Amino acid sequence: MIMRNLGVLGSLLTNRSFCTNKSNVLVYNYKTKTKEPLKCNKLLTWYVCGPTVYDSMHIGHASCYIKFDIIRRILENYFQLSVFQVMNITNVDDKIISKARALNIDPLKLARNYEVEFIEDINLLNIKQPDIIARVTDFIPQVLNFIQNLFDKDLVYSADDGSLFFDTTKYTRYGKMVKVPEIVPHMFKKSNLDFALWKATKPGEPSWDSSWGPGRPGWHIECSAIASHYFGSSVDIHSGGIDLLFPHHENEEAQCCAYHNVDDWVKHWIHTGHLHVGDNIKMSKSLMNTISVKELLNSYTANQFRTLCLLSNFKNDLEFNDSTMDVACGVLKKLDSFIANCYAHLNTYNSKHIPDITLLKKISDIENDILINLADNFNTSKALNLLIELISIFNKLLTVDFHFNCSKLEVIQALNLVVKTLESFGIDLSRSKFKSDAENSLVIDITVNFRSKLRQLALQSKSGISKQEIFELCDNLRDELSLANIIVQDSKISSIWRHEKIQAKKN
Ligand SMILES: [Zn+2]
Repeated sequence: MIMRNLGVLGSLLTNRSFCTNKSNVLVYNYKTKTKEPLKCNKLLTWYVCGPTVYDSMHIGHASCYIKFDIIRRILENYFQLSVFQVMNITNVDDKIISKARALNIDPLKLARNYEVEFIEDINLLNIKQPDIIARVTDFIPQVLNFIQNLFDKDLVYSADDGSLFFDTTKYTRYGKMVKVPEIVPHMFKKSNLDFALWKATKPGEPSWDSSWGPGRPGWHIECSAIASHYFGSSVDIHSGGIDLLFPHHENEEAQCCAYHNVDDWVKHWIHTGHLHVGDNIKMSKSLMNTISVKELLNSYTANQFRTLCLLSNFKNDLEFNDSTMDVACGVLKKLDSFIANCYAHLNTYNSKHIPDITLLKKISDIENDILINLADNFNTSKALNLLIELISIFNKLLTVDFHFNCSKLEVIQALNLVVKTLESFGIDLSRSKFKSDAENSLVIDITVNFRSKLRQLALQSKSGISKQEIFELCDNLRDELSLANIIVQDSKISSIWRHEKIQAKKN
């Protein structure tokens, strides 16, 4: 019997069972190319491939982390799993070294600056921080131990410059995730599929001593060494963008199965689709068509971009353009307006209706359907459509003065369902109500100015103020308040307001 290596986390869990518990959640697994019941214990272990910190994060990367954040929140909020998530930071790499050289600064310092910016960006996007953020340079002993283990198993060879390579020809299960390319001759590797475990140092590069000479870790080994350190010989979920499926994840699976002497290291490999910026063009640094997170947030809110991510399945490609963002903004506006109408109804309307059993059952059915769809590979798009269906039912009950023609109980139930669902997906409702100090000052200025104009009008008027003049002033006030993101909506007998960030539309 193979003894499982439990890793740091496993050794802390005295009663952790490695018998496989299947949950009722179906997840698309890239290893088997099918949806499978999620296999995990109450504590779900999850490794996320993190960024190489040599530049600002663009929204293609951001969409990937948002989608994983949504899945994490669904697993925690709907399926009561405790998620323990580890993410690496690649802080030594060819791109970092080359940029640092161009800027004449220390590569590790450059990486640290972009790591700080990455954390700022994930906070701005309301992405939960992983439980552990692990820099590869803090795991050099683990990397060396990993390589030594593979060396002892005769799976490693040394190239002329002292770099070490994993010998894919000696690992019989290579090609588990994808049909690998044909083997062709290579200048300094035995096979073009072989990959670097340890890169021999070159002048001016960061390096660490090893029994094979000074050098630095190859990219693939860092994730395997860090994940194995925390989780041992079995990881429930390992995730990344679809670009990482091959060779990164194929290589990780191969070297980890060899290291741990297991047939399968990861139970579920999950990948997110690309973000496209029109005509099937992927957003990437090499195509020079990137939009940074901060640039995005000049035009749209984090909630609006997250809504775009929610409107398609995480594994599909995502189209980012004005029209898809208009759809996302429209959906979020509908949800926001519904919440505002519910609060207006509950705060100001003394309904004499008795509860309607049919309507209450409909709300309950929609809640069940949302759960069923989330259990089917996290179908958030269907869940949002179900909320829109619920809102349509209630909007038919909306009177001209923004009250629902039903009892408070149905409104409370519907409001709770909408708020709970959005918050469970990481839509931060406090942000949509949030008013900055600048906005608060603007509202006070606008209101004082309005009062002053009304007083002047009264003082100057000899024959009384006309109805038209008052309406004009009121309309101007409504327009000005929208500058502070306060939207006022009038009916014949009352007015309601909501806070809504107006996006700065690009030309
Ligand atoms: Zn990785």
